Amino acid sequence: MAAFNEDLVFKALYENFPDPVIIIDAERVIRSANNAALRQFGYTAEEFLDRSVRLIYANDAEYERRLRNRAARVDETAAQTSTYLYVRRDRSTFSGHLRTTPLIDDTGEELALIGIIRDVSDLAEAVSARQKASEMLDAALEAMPEGFAIFDRNERLLVYNGAYRTICGPASTALKPGITAEEIMLLARQGGHYPDALPGTREGDEWIATRLRDFRYPDGHAKIFRYGDDRWLRVENIRTKDGNTVVLRVDVTDLKRAELALERQRQELEHKNEALDQFTATVSHDLKAPLRHISMFSEMIEDDLAEGNQAELIDNARHLRDSVRRMNRVIDSLLDYAQIAHRVSDWTDVRLDDIVSETLSILAGDAQEAGATFEIGPLPELQGDPELLRRLVQNLVGNAIKYRHPDRKPKILIHGGLADQIVELVVEDNGIGIDPRFATRIFEVFQRLHKDETVYGGTGIGLALAKRIAESHGGSIRLDTTFREGARFIVLLPRRLRKAS
Ligand code: ADP
Repeated sequence: MAAFNEDLVFKALYENFPDPVIIIDAERVIRSANNAALRQFGYTAEEFLDRSVRLIYANDAEYERRLRNRAARVDETAAQTSTYLYVRRDRSTFSGHLRTTPLIDDTGEELALIGIIRDVSDLAEAVSARQKASEMLDAALEAMPEGFAIFDRNERLLVYNGAYRTICGPASTALKPGITAEEIMLLARQGGHYPDALPGTREGDEWIATRLRDFRYPDGHAKIFRYGDDRWLRVENIRTKDGNTVVLRVDVTDLKRAELALERQRQELEHKNEALDQFTATVSHDLKAPLRHISMFSEMIEDDLAEGNQAELIDNARHLRDSVRRMNRVIDSLLDYAQIAHRVSDWTDVRLDDIVSETLSILAGDAQEAGATFEIGPLPELQGDPELLRRLVQNLVGNAIKYRHPDRKPKILIHGGLADQIVELVVEDNGIGIDPRFATRIFEVFQRLHKDETVYGGTGIGLALAKRIAESHGGSIRLDTTFREGARFIVLLPRRLRKAS
């Protein structure tokens, strides 16, 4: 066996070393290169040796960077490597980590520099791909309409997106990694961001404590609460496996408003149903009264006939006819009321002047008979259904004539006004007046304060109808209870139809 030859060992190691090794002299000329170097750069030994090492740098800037590093004695060891862009003979390039070791002679002079270059293209690509992915993620997070943030196990903010910043309101300017969830909440509260946690209130303290509990011990259910300027926020906190907390904040104002509108409608419907129940009860009661009379008088007629009682027969037959008439009137007025649904069919520009003169000509006979006088002030115009509005006015004026005082001739005042796009119509009389206690009841179907038909005829539908017409126009009608010299009704109607209604 041959003697151990150290030189041979080093040579074998050098030649078989997997990474390119290049040795340059003080003039930066390539003096030696191992097989891996020749393979990596694509040169033969003849083509490679004695050339300036500039040869392997892809561009001037990179080479100059290398020279600067060298001049500054940046020690490119395994611990501290620099990455340069290298070029092969076929002009293809690759990223390489350079590690250098100087060869020093006995006098301390640097003879040569050994450089080991490791191809890190794959690594560089992976890093760049990761960088790209992370940029993509950042862009996606930023574009998300939902507020998103991550807090670490110490409740400190790690990352957040733009929507989260917006949702934090007054706390948004203080947002930075490291701030705690509690600090953010308190800043937002201080800025009046939470209507349910006004600064300095005990309820507010409790509210914040609940929010913090939700954050610390997420129960898997999203919570919805008011925030900002009459807005609604859906908050979801998710604890991740590594102990971080992911928070999602979504503005659900539109949804919440729709839900509230639905709830309002539900309640309105409930009220309407109650009103309908009451209406049915009243109607059946009022229809039964004439029916009872009819049955009673027909029995009496039967008795009269059996007894040959001619005198009473005629009277009772007349009563029977009256009851039938009354029943007819009640049914007619009821149909009338039912037909005026909560909808206006003929929506046009209406002059209240015209409506009033039309009404007065219809009621001319009654007015003359009662010796009524009218005083009519200027009246505005509005949009509405002329036929319905005429019925409304006719009911009011008709009542003003009908419920006149026995001691004085009816004097009826009709005037109007316009304020804030609301039309006001007032019908006032000097009649018997209405007890303020009945101010609401008179507008209900079949509610009559004067039951004696012989004095004041009627079915008790007129004011209910007037109310329905006013409401179908988005308006209202009421009795002015401060007026005691007779009755005064005030009708308010929007001048123009609001689309939404
Ligand atoms: P009707 O006149 O058919 O009885 P309304 O619905 O028009 O029915 O009126 C309801 C009740 O309100 C009347 O029965 C009457 O007692 C009272 N009322 C209405 N208008 C007047 C008025 N101008 N003056 C006094 N009472 C009135």
